[in-house]
Amino acid sequence: MKRILVTGGAGFIGSHLVERLLNQGNEVLCLDNFFTGSKDNIVHLLDHKYLEVIRHDVIEPVLLEVDEIYNLACPASPVHYQYNPVKTVKTNVLGMINMLGLAKRTHAKIFQASTSEVYGDPEQHPQTESYWGHVNPIGIRSCYDEGKRIAETLCMDYHRQSGVRVKIVRIFNTYGPRMAINDGRVVSNFIVQALQNKPITIYGEGQQTRSFCYVDDLVEGFVRMMDNTEDGFTGPINLGNPGEFTIMELAQKVIQLTGSSSVIEKMPLPPDDPTQRRPDITVAQEKLNWEPIIMLEQGLIKTIAYFDDKLSRENFA
Ligand code: NAD
Ligand code: UDP
Repeated sequence: MKRILVTGGAGFIGSHLVERLLNQGNEVLCLDNFFTGSKDNIVHLLDHKYLEVIRHDVIEPVLLEVDEIYNLACPASPVHYQYNPVKTVKTNVLGMINMLGLAKRTHAKIFQASTSEVYGDPEQHPQTESYWGHVNPIGIRSCYDEGKRIAETLCMDYHRQSGVRVKIVRIFNTYGPRMAINDGRVVSNFIVQALQNKPITIYGEGQQTRSFCYVDDLVEGFVRMMDNTEDGFTGPINLGNPGEFTIMELAQKVIQLTGSSSVIEKMPLPPDDPTQRRPDITVAQEKLNWEPIIMLEQGLIKTIAYFDDKLSRENFA
């Protein structure tokens, strides 16, 4: 039995990972400051005798004994990471240093949840891991993009300098049940708006593209990456669904699948919003034998069912 720390474990992706690791028979420490995460995401697991929940902020050091660390602590939605950008930088930098220090002391393997945002507004399409990116260092997304870039730097420096075993994964847009209703990212926004027959808010003309990965596929990739035993294989590695859709196409699909009467409302495009994004997943296919199996429509149907249920419970309460 391994003892595994998941930071950000009460968040959207973190809660699915915690559940998966418990189901595999591990002891799991779920650490979270509950900024964007919620006890609701893990409430069904709280009776599990091998789960421990720790309210803690990763910008402060923590003394634990663990075999593996998945570092997911960081708000992921632009609305939330821009709410307190200095805190976002601290979470990415001080949080990463604290978790790498913990990994160094305990000889634990450490997994870093990095992001496709390290590619910024990419000039190479699709994005391979060897592409260094096109990132604005002083814009409103920089606290997150540059924060995640320095976190990758720290991982590689701890690896080279101190031999820490690091695993870096660059996550492309991921969606699914347990995204918060007020998360602010595009999939949850559109589904919640469609279910309430409210206008679907498209930023800009909706011609920007994204690739959407269902959360179960992503978590499978996480575990394969952590369990990969190839000597010195640190990544970074792209995990995402290579299907590419415009935001307008996504809106139309959500309207169709919900049978909604929502109309589309165009709103100003936020600064530095990337125009296109699609992962090249060749490395994940070759090294991890991984590729997503849940396609957009199938994943949207599951996610719509989740939000439908959640909204009806909230209306009832
Ligand atoms: P989320 O906001 O639902 O989860 C983040 C979790 O981290 C929350 O539970 C939050 O309370 C916690 N947290 C934030 N700051 C913290 C701190 N200082 N100390 C302790 N806990 C803290 O977002 P998510 O979509 O589940 O993202 C999880 C991770 O994956 C993040 O690191 C994010 O950057 C990365 N990621 C996600 C996506 C995506 O599409 N979902 C894409 C790229 C990268
Ligand atoms: N977006 C949108 N309407 C919304 C939320 C987002 O049109 O209500 C757009 C946003 O401008 C971006 C894309 O959808 O082009 C994905 O946004 P999200 O915040 O989900 O993620 P990110 O920009 O970090 O990929």
